[in-house]
Amino acid sequence: MQTLFGTAASSGVSRARSTIVREEAPPAGGTITPEAVETELERVAAARAAAAAQLEAIAVGIARAGHPDEAAIFAAQAAMARDPMLSELTGQRIRERLEDGIAATLAAVEEIAAQLRAIPDELLAARAADLTDVGLRIARHLAGRGDEAGPGLEAPAIVVARDIPPSVAATLPRERLLGFALETGSPTAHAAILARAYGIPAVVGVSGLIGGLEQAAAAAGGRPVELAIDGDSGEVVVDPDEPTARRFDELAAKSARAADRAIAEANLPALTSDGAEVTLLANIGTPDESARCIALGARGVGLFRTEFLFLERATPPAEEEQLAAYRSVVEAFAPHPVTIRLLDIGGDKPIPYLPLEPEANPFLGVRALRLAATRPDLFVTQLRAAYRAATAGSVKVMAPMVADATDVELLLSIASQARAGLDRDGLARGEVELGVMLEIPSAILVADTYFARIAFGSLGTNDLLQYTVAVDRGNRALARYQDSLHPALLRLVRDAVAAAERAGIELSVCGEMAGDPVAALALVGLGIRKLSMAAGSLPLVRRAVRGARLTDLCAAVEASLDEATASAVRARFQALAGN
Ligand code: PEP
Ligand code: MG
Repeated sequence: MQTLFGTAASSGVSRARSTIVREEAPPAGGTITPEAVETELERVAAARAAAAAQLEAIAVGIARAGHPDEAAIFAAQAAMARDPMLSELTGQRIRERLEDGIAATLAAVEEIAAQLRAIPDELLAARAADLTDVGLRIARHLAGRGDEAGPGLEAPAIVVARDIPPSVAATLPRERLLGFALETGSPTAHAAILARAYGIPAVVGVSGLIGGLEQAAAAAGGRPVELAIDGDSGEVVVDPDEPTARRFDELAAKSARAADRAIAEANLPALTSDGAEVTLLANIGTPDESARCIALGARGVGLFRTEFLFLERATPPAEEEQLAAYRSVVEAFAPHPVTIRLLDIGGDKPIPYLPLEPEANPFLGVRALRLAATRPDLFVTQLRAAYRAATAGSVKVMAPMVADATDVELLLSIASQARAGLDRDGLARGEVELGVMLEIPSAILVADTYFARIAFGSLGTNDLLQYTVAVDRGNRALARYQDSLHPALLRLVRDAVAAAERAGIELSVCGEMAGDPVAALALVGLGIRKLSMAAGSLPLVRRAVRGARLTDLCAAVEASLDEATASAVRARFQALAGN
């Protein structure tokens, strides 16, 4: 038995056999003799048919699991595998250059992909990557490795990998997937997002996991090794002994009971015992997460992080692609509102289509709305998609990293450009409320200079805390500063609430603080009535609010504003959360 720790990325507990999913190198190609041409052409035809059938089966499985958008990607890939142009080009290379099936397929695919990339249409260029994926799948079939073309999971298992690309994550059969444990990655990795959408546990950043499993497998004569993972604490146990297995089974049973209870309580209002009602909203990172949030009683989306559309690709997403993603969420949540956050990327992540100067301090650099000064096109396209999605339901748009009134001017100006462009193009648009994220202290200090011009503010307490105490939010060595109940943060929230009241605009919280049942009570005491959080937090915060009295919360806030430390504040609200 070996116990390891990673970062908890999706709630829940699993104990099951493990399957390691490896990043496979593409099969190597070669040449053939003229006599072998006919046989090689037949082999290629068979491999393409097998790849297409596999992709169609994946599409059907994903569609049945309720993810029609993802299913469409694989159906399109199946069509690519059967594409006559690909067949023609591959055949030509085999006949004329005597390349074998693998070499000819990979080269033909690259030829078509290069043509797609050259067309100034972002959507087509993005399809080039899908086509390359198809080529590799056909090549694996030719190499006799067709089974590796998407890990099938022949038995229910926890999937272990260094990292899992989205295309692989999405092909894992939902019904046999019991969790993820990754050596790398963060809670925002695709596998983690998918795990949260599916409601299965995930732990990421577990270093040494694959080595540990391989050792255990060798000791067990190559049999699959059991793994126990806790997506709430980050604990991962390789080959658990009897007592550990029992402990995990008890945790799993408790977690299943909590999940049942969460669904049963999902329609209860988040109402304090003395009648203050709080609206609970969802934070989502992909449209896939909508169904689970709705099942857990979210009354809209308070933060739709849209970065998933923009990362890991060669060109920015086209307006139509964004529209499809936004509209699917808006339709799922209607009539409740969906708050789309404008792109929050910057110097800390390399984006191939966005050449940015390396910065010494990316979190203080050209990030989020600040990019709009040089790349307004990215934001105008996104806003156009949001205005178009608003014909399907209630849409709000907020800008991240707003520091002052000049940033607000920029937001209003790109929004007006988007509206004018749509009108010019004769495209239908709906009403969109415009707001800002309050995640930089200056934005709150000067709120009175611009609040009257916007419809709402949303406190991003993750960044607000990092910029208030000057502590990197990801630096574990500085944990003592990272409690959102720091009195300095409470004072900023208090000031934001007062400014919003003066201007008569709506105020919510969408940072992790809102999903922490103890800190959420402090926010309610401070006057916040809209809290937006990850799906897993919805039942916990609902229960905490229902167990509290507003008068007690207000009194605790009064006392807390003068406390010296976050831990003293936490102790106060912890006592109230226990009621
Ligand atoms: C925040 O900063 O609180 C926030 C919600 O945004 P993100 O975590 O995406 O930076
Ligand atoms: Mg932020």
